[in-house]
Amino acid sequence: MSSPDSKAGSVCIVGSGPSGLYAADTILRKRPGCAIDIIDRLPTPFGLVRAGVAPDHQGTKNIVRQFERSMTKPGVRFLGNVCIGRDVSYAELKASYDAVVLALGAPVDRTLGIAGEDLDGVYGSGAFVGWYNAHPDHADLAPRLDAPGVAVIGNGNVALDIARILAKTPAEMTGSDISAPAVDAIAAAPLTDIYLLGRRGPLEASFTSAELGELGHLERARPVIDPAVLDGLTAEAVADPKEQKVKDKNLEILREFAARTDDKPLRVHLLFNAAPQEILGADGRVRGLRIERTRVENGRAVSTGETFDLDVGTVVTAIGYRIAAIDGVPVDENRGIVANQDGMVEDGVFVVGWAKRGPSGVIPSNRSDSMAVAELILSHLESAAGRTPGPTAIDALLAERGVTPVCFDDWQKINAAEVARAAEGRPREKFTRIAEMLEALK
Ligand code: NAP
Repeated sequence: MSSPDSKAGSVCIVGSGPSGLYAADTILRKRPGCAIDIIDRLPTPFGLVRAGVAPDHQGTKNIVRQFERSMTKPGVRFLGNVCIGRDVSYAELKASYDAVVLALGAPVDRTLGIAGEDLDGVYGSGAFVGWYNAHPDHADLAPRLDAPGVAVIGNGNVALDIARILAKTPAEMTGSDISAPAVDAIAAAPLTDIYLLGRRGPLEASFTSAELGELGHLERARPVIDPAVLDGLTAEAVADPKEQKVKDKNLEILREFAARTDDKPLRVHLLFNAAPQEILGADGRVRGLRIERTRVENGRAVSTGETFDLDVGTVVTAIGYRIAAIDGVPVDENRGIVANQDGMVEDGVFVVGWAKRGPSGVIPSNRSDSMAVAELILSHLESAAGRTPGPTAIDALLAERGVTPVCFDDWQKINAAEVARAAEGRPREKFTRIAEMLEALK
């Protein structure tokens, strides 16, 4: 199907999530004939659309139809189950392609740096979300969910996703592609109280309104917030009008939550000005969380010196991510991203998405960002196209090492097998192990 033109050059995109696929699309539209290899360490494409987007947000995942079109264009190949650093090195990629685009995402959970983080029962959101989304890296997480209280640290959409998924009943997860073991584990958990903790106030929370509002429509759970927290609060001082609208809407939703008097067996407490100070443990496992009361000064959380403890057996941190190190790829340690200048890493190497700017923005945010970097790649190709051997070099290396990439047609077989084995009402039952995915190809 591919018909690349060697004069148009070759590009290798490492990572098949939204940022990489948006970059591929722009390059190909403006430089038809360019050979584009999209490498992923998993046999399955689409990055966080598959393993990060909440399993009960199936509408968001429809974007894969568009990505499938990009991946099946002439000149584009998917090379799944190929890991940079294991099967082929960064240096080999640079020597093989006219341009390399790092679309690696930021899969490593940031840590709080407080005492007790190593206790059994503490999980980063990357691992926890990966677990319920059947990511092969986290399929065996088996998180402890054996106490009535769970703390979710962070006031972003990831924290909301986690609180909501824990609060939903199996019936509410019908139509989702949450992993079957996660549905069972959550249903069996004796949960009565989920604490969603923001170290700053309601105005500083980075929730979006639609996601916040979902907490108000749960079958067995209701949001709880102390009305006093909202007293006199307005979004008037928020400078950006778009931002101000979101904050206004969030305040309206929180006030509606605060006015509720209904009772449900599970409460989702929205605690603001509450910074984690220490995870309390006994016998190596989590028994509680010590919280420090804060106030916001010049936009920053400042300690008041007052503390209180929460009775929880599980702590999930949803406080952001860093890139995973790859030998030779320069890292900005402070920001946890690939060191770059507006998407340029070094001659012929570019970076897009969360690996470029950090873990921020929704799927469409990657479109404009990747399109801007694609312009730099296109201008680089003007002079660099044809300098390197292109895909044939990588094919030879992989063959020499006995690595057989999973191609797009293979992925479609895995996809069909996941759809075929799904129970009624579920879009798919994801394989949780790479070996199972490869087995489906036989
Ligand atoms: P986020 O929006 O940046 O939220 C991170 C949260 O962690 C913030 O509330 C931050 O508080 C808090 N935090 C950081 N360090 C902390 C610490 N040491 N102690 C306590 N709290 C700490 O990031 P995210 O929730 O991981 O989401 C990442 C991106 O994906 C966001 O752009 C998000 O909108 C997007 N996303 C979208 C959806 C959706 O559209 N449905 C779903 C999931 C994710 P401070 O603000 O005080 O720093």
